[in-house]
Amino acid sequence: MSIPADEEAARRAGAILSIDLGAIAANWRGLRDAGRATGRPIDCAAVLKADAYGTGAALVGPRLAAEGCRHFFVAQIDEGIALRRVLPEPPIYVLNGLLPGTEGDFVAHRLIPVLNHLGQLNAWRAAAQRLNQALDAVVHLDTGLHRLGFGAEDAQVLINERGRLRGLRLALIMSHLVAAEETSNPINGEQLSRFRTFVRAMPGAPTSLANSSGIFLGPDYHFDLLRPGAALYGINPLPGQPNPMLSVVTLRAHILQTRRIDAFQTVGYGGAWRSARPSRIATIALGYADGYFRNLINRTQVHLAGRKVPVIGRISMDLVTIDVTDVPEAECQAGSMVEVLGPHLTPDDLADHARTNAYEVMTALGRRYHRAYVDGYADAPTEETGEAP
Ligand SMILES: *Cc1c(COP(=O)(O)O)cnc(C)c1O
Repeated sequence: MSIPADEEAARRAGAILSIDLGAIAANWRGLRDAGRATGRPIDCAAVLKADAYGTGAALVGPRLAAEGCRHFFVAQIDEGIALRRVLPEPPIYVLNGLLPGTEGDFVAHRLIPVLNHLGQLNAWRAAAQRLNQALDAVVHLDTGLHRLGFGAEDAQVLINERGRLRGLRLALIMSHLVAAEETSNPINGEQLSRFRTFVRAMPGAPTSLANSSGIFLGPDYHFDLLRPGAALYGINPLPGQPNPMLSVVTLRAHILQTRRIDAFQTVGYGGAWRSARPSRIATIALGYADGYFRNLINRTQVHLAGRKVPVIGRISMDLVTIDVTDVPEAECQAGSMVEVLGPHLTPDDLADHARTNAYEVMTALGRRYHRAYVDGYADAPTEETGEAP
């Protein structure tokens, strides 16, 4: 089934971002099954922070819930409140934790704070006492990222004084990996051993360590709940190796105008590119305001009629120029479309060209793009188990 794109809006749009919800669902199934390969009843969550890495949490959340996903993570409280509107039932965890004075928001929307230090734990327990209600909580242990989470001292207090959790239900103990995509980095093993030591001292609660790349470090890293974000959206969890995930996004931009220029003419602001020969230039309708980074100047390409077409000159706010001299004129007219992201150039590829990572490419995807949601893998075989972890 393909949700019909609003054709009028697609005609007006500078560029069309197509998002395959079926591919996201198939990626989720693949990760869940990797977790279950050893026979333990491991569950797989979905990380939907930053609007599901730019793909649209309001549609991705329900699609994954329909697929059997029963745990959702966001970064911010407002992301959780928005997600709760479309996901009435499942637990939604807020990674950034409990900001002072937000206890009421968490309770009203049944959000679960990821508690990152004893102060947050105390505030959440006080809320539970005020309400005379057992509240769910996640304890986040810092095993080396040194960003959020219980440090060694706070963790020891918790181990020694279990009463500090009275009135709360410990729904999950989690930690986050520093460099999971570097499979031979010794920090992975060090974090694993610190995490194991902590969970042994706090028995009974479900546990979670692995992000997308962490899942591929093997079953030792899986614990009870996998926590992928990037890989769901087609980002390669194994940099430098073939991408095991299905591609999710395609971005196509309209050609607004084409022109001929002589040799030795410059194109764009600052005259940053100069033609070496008489050339044909096409101008396409996206720019840095759409997350097409300015540092892509003279170092990436788009695809048109099966050809690589160089992006030339400075990226403007709303416009990009490309050198179409080698493309047959008939295939390259005002109104034609070029592929900016897709099978020929993935978000990981564009990220390499921009000297960043695909996470930044995805979360920067423009809000002006016309979004067309498709569900291309709906007929792929699914293994529906619905087992509790
Ligand atoms: C973002 C995030 C994830 C997901 O990481 P990916 O690399 O995108 O799979 C998991 N856990 C935490 C704490 C995160 O912040």
